[in-house]
Amino acid sequence: MNRNRRVKIVATLGPASNTQAKIHALALAGADTFRINMSHASHDLMRQTVQHIRAVEAELKFPIGIMVDIQGPKHRLGTFENGEIDVVPGHVITLDSDPTPGNSERVHLPHPEILEAMEPGHRLLVNDGKVQLQVIETGDGWSKTKVLSGTWLADKKGVNVPDSDIDAGVLTEKDRKDLEAALKEEIDWIALSFIQRPEDLAEPRKIVGRKAGILCKIEKPQAVERLDDIIDLSDAIMVARGDLGVEMPLELVPSIQKKMIRKCRRAGVPVVVATQMLESMIHSPVPTRAEVSDVANAVYEGADAIMLSAESAAGDYPEDAVRTMNSIAESIEKDKGYVDVIAGQRPQAESTGADAISFAAAEIADTLNLAAIVCFTASGSTGLRAARVRPEKPILALSPVATTARRMAMLWGTKCVITPDSNTLEDVIDKACRCAHREGLAKPGERIIISVGVPLGTPGSTNMLRIAYISEDGQGSQNRVAS
Ligand code: PEP
Repeated sequence: MNRNRRVKIVATLGPASNTQAKIHALALAGADTFRINMSHASHDLMRQTVQHIRAVEAELKFPIGIMVDIQGPKHRLGTFENGEIDVVPGHVITLDSDPTPGNSERVHLPHPEILEAMEPGHRLLVNDGKVQLQVIETGDGWSKTKVLSGTWLADKKGVNVPDSDIDAGVLTEKDRKDLEAALKEEIDWIALSFIQRPEDLAEPRKIVGRKAGILCKIEKPQAVERLDDIIDLSDAIMVARGDLGVEMPLELVPSIQKKMIRKCRRAGVPVVVATQMLESMIHSPVPTRAEVSDVANAVYEGADAIMLSAESAAGDYPEDAVRTMNSIAESIEKDKGYVDVIAGQRPQAESTGADAISFAAAEIADTLNLAAIVCFTASGSTGLRAARVRPEKPILALSPVATTARRMAMLWGTKCVITPDSNTLEDVIDKACRCAHREGLAKPGERIIISVGVPLGTPGSTNMLRIAYISEDGQGSQNRVAS
């Protein structure tokens, strides 16, 4: 399929879109990676959805990424005798460890670790921040709070605790089971919710190993503070603006987004911008002007991917939402200003062979106006370094490892092809030319630049650049002296 957009699209699947036919339509409309949210999917549904995606992938013949999003420690209130209570600012209510239904004076908070972490002055944000409580006194297993704003509390409403360091791992029992079930399927990414600190990655990394990439959702102020260390340990990052906008003042979210994208680009770690990108399209076939601007902004910032949540999972217009995102991105990427902005933010090369080769390849491709940059990558690390440069010319990544190619489906500017390893340099060159031609990146007689590691098949050995001409039939390389 001939798709030349640089930024990638992640589409969340749900009741509006998780059939094979709908997934097929969303992939054709522009979705590169699909997200399955374990807050809403059973193991059976997750397995069935993975099968549908893989069937679509086989039909369309390009690698598609699958991200399984693990719910994490989502905190909720207990229940009330009457299901709900009215409150006014100044109302005092105690949160405690007593599981009996609550009333206007007290309610159960079934998370001892929060009760333990609470200190006077800390805030609890209930129901996406619609009610704000502030702790005024604490004791063993209880916290007395005062309502700062809001009018209504009800059974099982979500609770965010932005001011407190919660001393518990990032995986709940449900998460461990979800993780185990997901890793038995052919999935490519595990997204971790509510990460607070780099140490939170230790347990998931031990379980996941190298079976999938780990994407950390940044949605807590504590994670924003430790961003550099978290980026260092992650395979990808998500600007999870939904919870981030509850836990932190909304007006801080845009600058945090910019900072996160900049840091990830510098580190060469893929970054996804998520939540409410085309929110109004849940119920409307067209987006608002502000939403178009928001998507455009993420594209100008050089994010690797932009994500749809409820728009594609539960909305009335999932396909239109993907198509809209695709056309906004295509339009921005045609803007000359976009090319200049992206080039202007190019990070410095690090002093490694892989980085020097990636920068040189981009430079040579520009100077000689080559058609594409082709890299061979088994683990994906050469692909990541090539994308980090954000070159003007398209990148084609060839990998013998299916999950590597599928993970790169979320990587900026990178087209991926799954292809077996070559045994000879001639075959490497021919294959690069053939694939670049077949993927619509280079025409007969045009030139490409190829990066490869010699001796062939040695991981981490990218050390050679070669310019090659596409043969007249597009089936290989042509023996001409490159000029
Ligand atoms: C978010 O909070 O922005 C997010 C992507 O996570 P979730 O959809 O799980 O709330």
